[in-house]
Amino acid sequence: MITRRKTVMGVAVSAGIVMGRAQVVLPGYTKVAEVPITTSRIKSEQRALDRAVEETVQEIEELRDSAAQRLGAQVASVFEAQLLIASDKSFLDEVKNRIGIFRRNAGFVYNSLVQETTHKLKHSVDPYMQAMGEEIEGVSNRVLSHLSGYRERSTVRFKGDRIMVGKSFTPGEVLSYRNRKAVGFLAGEGGANSHMALIARSLMTPMLIVDDIWSQVQNNCRIIVDGTDGRAIINPSDEEWSEYQRKKKRQGPALLTRIKKLTKIPPTTSDGRVINVSANLELPGPVDDILAAQKFPVGLYRTEFLYLNSDGFPDEDQQFEYYDRIASKYEDSYVVLRTFDLGSDKVRFDGDIGPRETNPALGWRGIRLMLEMTDIFKTQLRAILRASTRGNVRILLPMITELEELQKARRIVSQVKFSLRRAGIRFDEDIPVGIMVEVPSAALTAHRLALDADFVSIGTNDLTQYTMSADRGNSRVMSLYNSFHPSVLSLIQMTIVACQQAGTPLSICGEMAGDPLALPLFIGMGVSDLSMNPAKIFDSCRLISKIDFNLVKHLVGPVLSSHSSAGVMRKLQNYRNALEKK
Ligand code: PEP
Ligand code: MG
Repeated sequence: MITRRKTVMGVAVSAGIVMGRAQVVLPGYTKVAEVPITTSRIKSEQRALDRAVEETVQEIEELRDSAAQRLGAQVASVFEAQLLIASDKSFLDEVKNRIGIFRRNAGFVYNSLVQETTHKLKHSVDPYMQAMGEEIEGVSNRVLSHLSGYRERSTVRFKGDRIMVGKSFTPGEVLSYRNRKAVGFLAGEGGANSHMALIARSLMTPMLIVDDIWSQVQNNCRIIVDGTDGRAIINPSDEEWSEYQRKKKRQGPALLTRIKKLTKIPPTTSDGRVINVSANLELPGPVDDILAAQKFPVGLYRTEFLYLNSDGFPDEDQQFEYYDRIASKYEDSYVVLRTFDLGSDKVRFDGDIGPRETNPALGWRGIRLMLEMTDIFKTQLRAILRASTRGNVRILLPMITELEELQKARRIVSQVKFSLRRAGIRFDEDIPVGIMVEVPSAALTAHRLALDADFVSIGTNDLTQYTMSADRGNSRVMSLYNSFHPSVLSLIQMTIVACQQAGTPLSICGEMAGDPLALPLFIGMGVSDLSMNPAKIFDSCRLISKIDFNLVKHLVGPVLSSHSSAGVMRKLQNYRNALEKK
């Protein structure tokens, strides 16, 4: 435990300086607030517990039934054990008893007793006991989410500036803590391209990843996080505190000021090739108005954050209002609305989309989920189509792995169009339907997919993760997770050529699109459409204006023939150095 002043260095994943007190979130333990209650509330807390258990039981029963249907009785029997855990009467009686004795909220008492019970199990050397501890914790998380844990956590604002310190955060947690006015994040693990990092950048909230930091920081201690320099100071001196206050003031409005200057640098190469630069957006944010006024299109709108930021799936009208507002804001350009890309780490705070998976990144996510949850998919498509009357909305399907998924999704789009037409509701009949190429199977069959897709967008974040078999959110494999590996670049090149041959418009929308090392290479490969984090737009436009297409096209061959990420990066860095000397 760090009790004195200490500077630690880490991976800066979201820029900016924040200062405040640590709010330490230990995995599965301190997430439930402790709230003292009056004697008159004891009964209602006990009733709330009963209700939460009933809802959990019902939920597990539904999961059991659907598992029985899809996967057979043997798999479904796993849920029987969960049902026994959820409805263990003697345990629940003890919780109710303690609510009365200690006069604390049901969630806190329930969680404390679960922790007492599972602590020994989880630290046992017997793998069976460990698994049992995890199983109990999994069930209890469901009970806690029903017990308004999610609402409780997402609505109570922190007092003073709080910096969340935890092992890692899901994007839903980052959103939720930001809603509670946390000012920054210090995570013990994660990657620069993890969804946790993406959402922190999109919210312009500083974030730093420092190995194992979560177990060393004391709750409530003073912290400075510098998400630009990659430094955190735990228990800083008063002088340092004042120095960083001054530094923070100077850095404050820099990004917004730079974005405001955007039109001054049109994204055209020095030999006259116009590059379409657009923005990746997740939520309405401070840069929306600026980007819209400058007529920048939105090349990727991650609509799943609409769900992650609320209590459930918004209904059709709520979604329509949301999409219509975006479409009207960007009326002079266009907006690519990606359908819900949920699953894997993109689950809500209470992790509620489906049964827990052992390998979720390779599991039920993106289009796979929507092709099964067709009601939710159709509702979203109806809302998007209704918002398409200006002719500036495009639909993008995430995680397409094989042609049949695209064809099925397109059939569903046609069905939704048919029902809107029959109801006399207007929409854009020619709305383009495109696909993300972000898994190797899609890149390797892009020549065929490109024939059925109206446009293609390469997602380099996932393409890297799946090509390198390295989790984008795991700092332990961060050196392997490298988008500059020749294998990733070959798949990108293959997709570009496939689209050129099919005459299908192509853009790149992963984080790499705004990377100054990658940009000349992409332009050399013939890419003329790049969608990136708004924070990268200013520098990218400036860089594009210095690039000579006829020169960078000769970079492609030597770069692709490199044997390693290091080799690729060295060649690209040499080019960049030469460019900067110009
Ligand atoms: C990608 O994978 O590159 C992408 C743009 O999608 P996301 O980052 O939302 O997974
Ligand atoms: Mg992706």
